[in-house]
Amino acid sequence: MRNLRKRSFFSIAVLAVGLVCGLIYETMLAVDDKYQVIRKVSTTHKVVALTIDDGPHPQATPEVLKVLRDKQVKATFFVLGANAQVHPGITAQTLADGHEIASHAYSHQFLNRMSLTAAAAELEQSEAILTGIGAPKPTLFRPPGGGYNDRIVAMARERGYTTVLWSVDSGDWRQLPVEQVVKTIMDNVRPGSIILMHDGQYPLPTPQAIGIVIDNLRSQDYQFVTVSELLQYYEAVKPASTLRYLTLGTTARIVSSSASGHE
Ligand SMILES: [Zn+2]
Repeated sequence: MRNLRKRSFFSIAVLAVGLVCGLIYETMLAVDDKYQVIRKVSTTHKVVALTIDDGPHPQATPEVLKVLRDKQVKATFFVLGANAQVHPGITAQTLADGHEIASHAYSHQFLNRMSLTAAAAELEQSEAILTGIGAPKPTLFRPPGGGYNDRIVAMARERGYTTVLWSVDSGDWRQLPVEQVVKTIMDNVRPGSIILMHDGQYPLPTPQAIGIVIDNLRSQDYQFVTVSELLQYYEAVKPASTLRYLTLGTTARIVSSSASGHE
C-alpha cells in the first residue's frame, strides 16, 4: 500500500515535470514565433481578404474604389507613403469608403537592404503622412517587394505593426488579361486567404478582376473582410498552437509557405 502511494506520487511528479517542460518549450517556440509574418489565417470559415498595394494612383485607385463600393466590399490598402503624400485626397476617399489603411512603407525600397535606422524612418515617415490624412495609426505593414528579415519584422513590431504578406498572388501587376488574373485567384483561394492585388500603375486588369472574383466567390458563399477582421477568424487546430498563440497575445500569427511574387 505504501509502495503504491509512493509510486503514485512519483508518477504525478513525473507528469508535473513533463508539463512544466512542455510549457517552457512552448514559451521558447513563442519567442521564435515573434519574428514570423502572416501570410494567411487558418480557419474553416469561408472568409478572405483582398489587399491592394502600391497606391494611391490617380487613375487606378478610384477605379478599384468604385468596384469595391458597387460590390459593398471592404479591402485593406497597403498604401505607399510617397504616393499618399502626392494624392492625399485619394487616401482620404479610401478611408471615407470604410477600407482599412495599412502601411507599405514610404518609397518602395527593399527595407532589408538598408540600415535598420533608414528602414525605421521609412515606416515612421509613412505613418506620419497617413495619420496626417486622418487614418488611424496603421497596425499592419507589408514590406515592399516582400523583402524582410527578422530585424525588420522586430523593428516593425516595436512600432506596433504586424507584418503581413499574402497567400494568393494574383499576378495583376504583370498586366495579364483579366481572365488570367481571375483564374489565378480562383484556383488558389482557400478559407483564410490573403489575396495580393495592386493599384500603383495604370492600366491594370485589377478593377475588372476584383469585380468578377467578388461575384464568383460570393456564389461559393465566401465573405470578404479586411485583414484585421480576418485575423479574428483564426482557429487553433492543436492545443499546442493554442498555447503558443495565447502566449503571443491577441494577434494570430500564422505562416504558410505559398506566397511569392511581386508586391
Ligand atoms: Zn509593393
